Amino acid sequence: MRDRDRCLPGSREIRQEGRSPGHDGGLRGKAGRVAERIVIVGGGFSGLACADLIEHTLPTAEVVLLEATERLGGRVQGATLGPDRIPIDVGAAELYDIVGAPHLRRLVDRLGLPRRPLRATPTYFFDGHRIDDEGDLATALGDRAARHLAAFWHEVERRRPTTEYARAGHPADGRHPWSACTFADLLETIGDATAERFTAMQVHSDLAVAPSRTSGLYGVDNLLIDHPEYCRMFTIPGGNDQLVQRLAESLRCEPSRHARVSHIARARDGRLRVTSDVGTDHADAVVMALPPTAAASIAWEEGAVADAVSEHCAHHTHQTGYLRVTLLAATRFWADDLADDYFVSDAFDGVTVYDQSPEPRARTTPGILSWLIAGEPARRLAELSDDTVVAHVLDAAPPPLARLGSCVTATRVDRWFGARGVSHRPGGPRALSYVDRHQPVAGSPHLLFTGDSLYDATLSGALDAAAQTVALLAGQFSVGQFGARDVLRAAGLGDEAALSQSTEPPRRRGSDLPFLARPGVRA
Ligand SMILES: Cc1cc2nc3c(=O)[nH]c(=O)nc-3n(C[C@H](O)[C@H](O)[C@H](O)COP(=O)(O)OP(=O)(O)OC[C@H]3O[C@@H](n4cnc5c(N)ncnc54)[C@H](O)[C@@H]3O)c2cc1C
Repeated sequence: MRDRDRCLPGSREIRQEGRSPGHDGGLRGKAGRVAERIVIVGGGFSGLACADLIEHTLPTAEVVLLEATERLGGRVQGATLGPDRIPIDVGAAELYDIVGAPHLRRLVDRLGLPRRPLRATPTYFFDGHRIDDEGDLATALGDRAARHLAAFWHEVERRRPTTEYARAGHPADGRHPWSACTFADLLETIGDATAERFTAMQVHSDLAVAPSRTSGLYGVDNLLIDHPEYCRMFTIPGGNDQLVQRLAESLRCEPSRHARVSHIARARDGRLRVTSDVGTDHADAVVMALPPTAAASIAWEEGAVADAVSEHCAHHTHQTGYLRVTLLAATRFWADDLADDYFVSDAFDGVTVYDQSPEPRARTTPGILSWLIAGEPARRLAELSDDTVVAHVLDAAPPPLARLGSCVTATRVDRWFGARGVSHRPGGPRALSYVDRHQPVAGSPHLLFTGDSLYDATLSGALDAAAQTVALLAGQFSVGQFGARDVLRAAGLGDEAALSQSTEPPRRRGSDLPFLARPGVRA
């Protein structure tokens, strides 16, 4: 049930005199208000999150959500593997609880879903060494490399405090000096080639691109996912797709499936006419909750609008891809050797391997391992047959998994490219203002864009973008100005205490390398 008292104040009474309602009747809310009819294009996490935030924020709004496919959730996708139909995540596998920006965690909690934390100090396999703690790292990389790496992490903490990290991807980032250099340039400042290679490997699964193709700041922000004082990771037991399912169930609006939008035009009354496989809708506002490559394929009647949309999409299209390879083994024989929720290996330029076993601590029950192969190696492998891909993965498995091939009972390969891929340069090559990001068509403030390619290519970034989108919508349809924080608060996701303005570097844990356990201090 909605807590109506949380809605933002001042949602306007009757507006725009003389405006004639569309064929749908220009819906009237209770209390004689004209309801804003807002069409959301795309039923992935961004579209669903926007619908949720609108329903909490704009009490008179009528939301229409159009999804092209049968399934809601987009790149948050679950599946099952093996005869026992064990649930697995084939899209987004880890959720981020960012210190100072707890909105995603709070959404999961508000939806009544359970959370399971993921350990943030995993094992690394690098240059034939196994690295579990700082001592292993010094042995594998050498003392010099370890010293340079520690100095680099200190510098990262100093130049990217947690308060800034909590607002990663927002326009202020454009002024950060690391926005103006590539991540490859920044890695060079480490001053030790082995330490540079290790760092590039460590972050490759998240960045999904070579360091020369993204900014220094975006590289660092992805690295800081591994810093437990900046970010904690969790999953939803039974599958992360429950997040989108539960979100969809909690909405007042009923999303339309098989409703691919093909055409958007301005109607005579100034509203927007949205044509989809299920008919035509007239909208006071349209929210495009699509990756830019999908938005670019929609036809726009007016030339000027088409040009502006095309420019917006070009600015934000920096797609890279993933290949997720999931293997079911008869037993989780690696339980004693690889006890963490994931490990990182230097295979495929850097790959994260998630343990998605149904019983994460058991030894004798079936085990599931999921390789998230990223960027160029993923693109090359994706052209091969599934069996060949699996053979490559088994070849590249680290020593504790040497006998994996003989235990595999089922496999699944998912290809995530094009509009289903991720951006390696969210926000584009130069930071835009909120208005230019979300309302890129001059003279059409009611045409808004949102999605994970605008701030950060994650669910956290998508939620930031959704909150800002709804704040701009609230500004259009309400009396007064509202910020994204007001929207999050109205939706029960704000946390003022966590958003303190402290710029102190995070409290040190006595470790020089926060992504690693210290010798003998493994949780
Ligand atoms: C393999 C992989 C792993 C990932 N891992 C993580 C992770 O661990 N943690 C994390 O936070 N993030 C992760 N991400 C990123 C995360 O999945 C995305 O940030 C998020 O799902 C984006 O949601 P979205 O709604 O913006 O886009 P999408 O999920 O792409 O949703 C867009 C929706 O629009 C629909 N659509 C397209 N065209 C039309 C049209 N013309 N009309 C109507 N509907 C249309 C699509 O069918 C789709 O449902 C991962 C992504 C991938 C691909």
